[in-house]
Amino acid sequence: MCNHDSLGVEQGKILFVPRPSIEEKVLKIVTARIVVIANQKGGVGKTTTSINFAASLAILEHMVLLIDLDPQGHSTTGLGFEKPNDQAGAYALLTGTPADVLALNTEIPTLQIIPAGKDLARLEFSDLTDESQLYNLKNALNLIKETYDYIVIDSPPALGAMTLNAFTAADELIVPMPCEFLAMDGLIELVDTLNAVQKQSNSNLQLGGILLTMAEERTNLGSAVANEVRKNFPGKVFKSTIPRNIRLAEAPSHGKPIAFYDLKSKGAQAYIQFTKEWLRRKKNELAKDIL
Ligand code: ATP
Ligand code: MG
Repeated sequence: MCNHDSLGVEQGKILFVPRPSIEEKVLKIVTARIVVIANQKGGVGKTTTSINFAASLAILEHMVLLIDLDPQGHSTTGLGFEKPNDQAGAYALLTGTPADVLALNTEIPTLQIIPAGKDLARLEFSDLTDESQLYNLKNALNLIKETYDYIVIDSPPALGAMTLNAFTAADELIVPMPCEFLAMDGLIELVDTLNAVQKQSNSNLQLGGILLTMAEERTNLGSAVANEVRKNFPGKVFKSTIPRNIRLAEAPSHGKPIAFYDLKSKGAQAYIQFTKEWLRRKKNELAKDIL
């Protein structure tokens, strides 16, 4: 049996880093897996993926917390919540209020959310990237890791304080990437940030995978982009892709995840497929490491 796994990435190249011990694996089973959805490019499907991945996990009967870590608050409004006032959302979480006080119930019984409002923007330009503040989110989540199976974090379109706090707290990064011209633009920078975080503040962080969004693989450009990403990141691109689907764009204005807005839509089916693929991967990884 080999004693390593391909987890890290450096300048676009996948590195080999040691596997966790059995003790670490057992800990992983009893505590929440923390997944950050990030890409510093705007409008690539981070929020759509955060909401619908979290909702799909919850529909599949896992206990899930969605944390909106973007001052735009789109995951918050997309699930039908008002953006919170000071001290009632992610800003409060990062400045010392316990997560269990801040988590709100959603219409899915197994899904809760910590919302975000504009106050969070103040932190983006504060000292949160200082060594001492990098761990604020991680420390906050340590207190509730046994309450949930999965914690999903939506991040802003920047590699600033919010994203670095999320990378420091997370076990895994999922990168949504639209099947569009210049899709991979900025990916090297993202991967370099991931690598720097692995070295400095969170050696656990893995690149979980790249999720192709807004896919139109039947068009020449769409399939060319998908092939290019798969060629550059072998084994790291999810088989499931999310098609461009108008129902996915409509759902947030109704404050609902796509599964509750139009379950039969291609968008809803795609996010459920993706979530099942992701869960299968986790199960296989765990089985492989424990054997
Ligand atoms: P930001 O960087 O501003 O936070 P984002 O990366 O979170 O953006 P989204 O808000 O999820 O991206 O998506 C951008 C826009 O595209 C939104 O209006 C969303 O409804 C729409 N959209 C996302 N995914 C799809 C899809 N698969 N099909 C159609 N529209 C989509
Ligand atoms: Mg967003």
